[in-house]
Amino acid sequence: MTKELQNQQIILAKRPSGMPAAEHFSFQDAPIANPEDGQVLIQTLYISVDPYMRGRMNDEKSYVTPFKLNEPINGRIVGKVLQSESDQLQVGDNVVGMLDWKKYNVTSASNVRKIEETGAPLPAYLSVLGINGLTAYFGLLDIGQPQKEETVVVSGAAGAVGMIVGQIAKLKGTRVVGIAGTDAKTDFLKNELGFDDTINYKTTDDISKAIAASCPNGVDVYFDNVGGPISDGVMNHLNDFARIPLCGAISSYNRTDGDLGTRIQPKLIKSRSMIKGFIVGDYSDRFGEGMRDLSTWLAEGKLNYRENIIEGFENVPDAFLGLFKGDNLGKQLVKVAEE
Ligand code: NAP
Repeated sequence: MTKELQNQQIILAKRPSGMPAAEHFSFQDAPIANPEDGQVLIQTLYISVDPYMRGRMNDEKSYVTPFKLNEPINGRIVGKVLQSESDQLQVGDNVVGMLDWKKYNVTSASNVRKIEETGAPLPAYLSVLGINGLTAYFGLLDIGQPQKEETVVVSGAAGAVGMIVGQIAKLKGTRVVGIAGTDAKTDFLKNELGFDDTINYKTTDDISKAIAASCPNGVDVYFDNVGGPISDGVMNHLNDFARIPLCGAISSYNRTDGDLGTRIQPKLIKSRSMIKGFIVGDYSDRFGEGMRDLSTWLAEGKLNYRENIIEGFENVPDAFLGLFKGDNLGKQLVKVAEE
């Protein structure tokens, strides 16, 4: 079978300094090996592009290994098993896992997880029922610990993680304020997801003033997806014993200077606030619990989500680059083949 298939892959052609561009990626034809004992041949259906991948383009130590130059980019993918030399997976099974940016991957069956039929659409396993949903769930509930009637602020609010954070915070009875970069996004958060208030940071001169207006009772939980000046503005309004789950800092991922902002230590001390960086993988032994709650809320219609799905393997780099321009409302995915 592998002989009839035309495979393509996307490699890291150059390491960027600052904002990445098309020139940092390259498309290549790629051979497909015959699956050996224990392996499967998987056709890529959907590719997830994620901001953290920007860090993997640098040659520096982090919680994930850097991408290797001239080798395929690797990320979360949903695919279908076309050939199986393993008794763990059958032809036709849909799977999710960390695979190369290729149209077809040959990998060990234990490297992917079978997606059981639950009625949820396949892309959901790369968004609300995937890493983004789990990040929102554990970051907010374990670190943020929102209490009824408290005020929760979330930045990057119309993105894959942010929109789930805000809705879980609403389920916990809090007042939720979302910060995002377009009116279409803030309208969506208010009108479709029930956020109590929103701030478009691109049309707001003074974030601190805007937070004061949107959060008359101060900020109890700040779920930080972006860092930078937005977060500096929110930090001015922390209530005593506020909690700050530090999820992402996308505003600094492409900066080449030191990104020195306001010193936040005095604010944290005065308010006795807790700020904690986390990686969703820290909670891997509790993923079952998170998936159960997210699936239940979804099935009960208590959780809504949005994906921004563009089509075509050739558009994967652009989809990734769009994350840093705010092109996506909801989880950015690329559909590579029909289910
Ligand atoms: P996303 O929010 O769906 O997409 C990125 C969004 O960031 C863009 O749509 C854009 O929206 C916003 N953005 C881009 N540049 C910005 C800037 N300079 N300042 C402010 N906002 C900017 O991505 P996601 O997958 O949900 O990830 C959100 C954050 O969580 C990222 O920082 C990511 O690295 C982090 N994350 C962390 C973990 C973890 O385990 N800790 C797991 C997943 C994700 P606007 O139009 O609003 O600007």
